[in-house]
Amino acid sequence: MKLKVNQDACIGCGACFQFEDVFGPNEDGQSEVKVDVIPEDKVAEATEALESCPTGAIEEVKADAVPEDKAA
Ligand code: SF4
Repeated sequence: MKLKVNQDACIGCGACFQFEDVFGPNEDGQSEVKVDVIPEDKVAEATEALESCPTGAIEEVKADAVPEDKAA
């Protein structure tokens, strides 16, 4: 499972920061995902955060969402 935070949607409410292994504030106080791939034992937490984000800023990144030639 991979996640990203849509910076245009995140309001920095901090609700997801309780899952500190997965999310943390960046220098602008908005959330960012701290790990490239969510470890198996954090998937439940990550999913809860995704579903409870008040603005829906947390999005799952599907494995095939990024074409290889566009991947950084
Ligand atoms: S819960 Fe959503 S809006 Fe709040 S800090 Fe996390 S990503 Fe941003």
